[in-house]
Amino acid sequence: MSSAEFRQWGYKTIDWIADYLENVEKLPVLSQVEPGDIRAKLPNSPPQQGESFAEIFKDIDEIIVPGLTNWQSPNFFAFFPTGISAPSILGELLSAGLGVQGMLWATSPACTELETHVLDWLVDMLELPLHFKSSETGGGVIQDSASSASLVALVAAREQTTADISKLVAYTSTQAHSSIEKGFKIAGISSENLRLIEVDGNYAICPDALQQCIEQDIAAGLTPFYLAATVGTTSSNAIDPLPELGAIAQKYNIWFHVDGAMSGTAALCPEYRWIHQGLELADSYCFNPHKWMLTNFDCTCFYVRDRSKLTQSLSIVPEYLKNQASESGAVIDYRDWQIPLGRRFRSLKLWFVIRHYGIEGLQHYVRKHIALAQEFAEWVKSDSRFELAVNPPLNLVCFRHKGGDRINQTIVNSLNSSGKIYLISTKLDQKVTLRMSIGQATTEKLNVQQAWELICQIADAN
Ligand code: PLP
Repeated sequence: MSSAEFRQWGYKTIDWIADYLENVEKLPVLSQVEPGDIRAKLPNSPPQQGESFAEIFKDIDEIIVPGLTNWQSPNFFAFFPTGISAPSILGELLSAGLGVQGMLWATSPACTELETHVLDWLVDMLELPLHFKSSETGGGVIQDSASSASLVALVAAREQTTADISKLVAYTSTQAHSSIEKGFKIAGISSENLRLIEVDGNYAICPDALQQCIEQDIAAGLTPFYLAATVGTTSSNAIDPLPELGAIAQKYNIWFHVDGAMSGTAALCPEYRWIHQGLELADSYCFNPHKWMLTNFDCTCFYVRDRSKLTQSLSIVPEYLKNQASESGAVIDYRDWQIPLGRRFRSLKLWFVIRHYGIEGLQHYVRKHIALAQEFAEWVKSDSRFELAVNPPLNLVCFRHKGGDRINQTIVNSLNSSGKIYLISTKLDQKVTLRMSIGQATTEKLNVQQAWELICQIADAN
């Protein structure tokens, strides 16, 4: 593609994205295609000769768009938000245009240093413990996902012990994200050695049950080595009691990892920083700007208390990666902080977002979403047909129709097949529970009101 064509199609692509985002609300939120529909429209073999970009773009509209679930719709209330924003998209574009690999400081110093700097900014912005800063013993790095962050923490924790791998035991709650268990499979530790600790009435881990389980394991000759807590569990947004868990982790010399995937972003606002109370006891922590901080996937901020523990467990230095800067000890080589060698210039989009919105701009979104969720919760409470499964701490409302699983399942199915809104259910206490997750950048009160009206209409009809 010539430079002139690149400019032409570059401008058109930005126009296309702007049109898409302006009109996304008119599209069905959940794609309404059947399995195989998209592939049936694609040619069996790739083109022998290159095609024009005009032809390619036509297929975006005709083939791809109908097969999209429109995560950027203001009526998307499923899973968790996937924050995007114009500054973030432009940061992604620039990163693609630069095409640098930031595996070593030397392979693109700006890629490493901007990342370190922005992650230090975020320590201040969220008022995280200061030892997570690069000027202290720790530091932050951008991982592709919270799943990778937990895995890397697990590997670092495993490397701190001298016990036989079959004797290692770890702890998390029954409500922890599935990525914790997946990490075990990848790290070669039997998931039978991962204890799922019971939770209290708010679905947060019970410290007493944890302590008891650890004592039993030690008595059985096992070695506790890793504890993963959650700030904002996936099903119900429960906040595990970090001070108590951290104290237990310290007592038994266990690596304490805290997963703040979506909810960590709430700490941008001073009034929600209580969610991180006790985080000063953590060895590692992650949260996902790619969920609730207007930053495109992938962008997980992962912090460690002691960066040497991480790099000792992940660093291998083959001849071809040796260089003067690394040997000087004066630079960070982020390849030693993650699973892959290569890495994109992901801090650009985060830097753009923070600079464009400023702290106050980002706080505005958090406050808006939490206020909308709390208002939605009030509507649920005041309708005698419905009940809250748990009081929503932040922007996720878990609720159910009192009529039982069947009607709740009918509500989810009808909502999603209508294409008007998209939300999902989970199970809490074995009961089908609806999850209203509010966090898309463009979601306004009207969207939440319409969603509630639709839910009530379906309830009336059943
Ligand atoms: N942890 C929690 C609490 C989550 O809710 C999620 C995703 O929903 C994850 C981890 C996984 O996030 P990622 O896709 O960044 O791996």
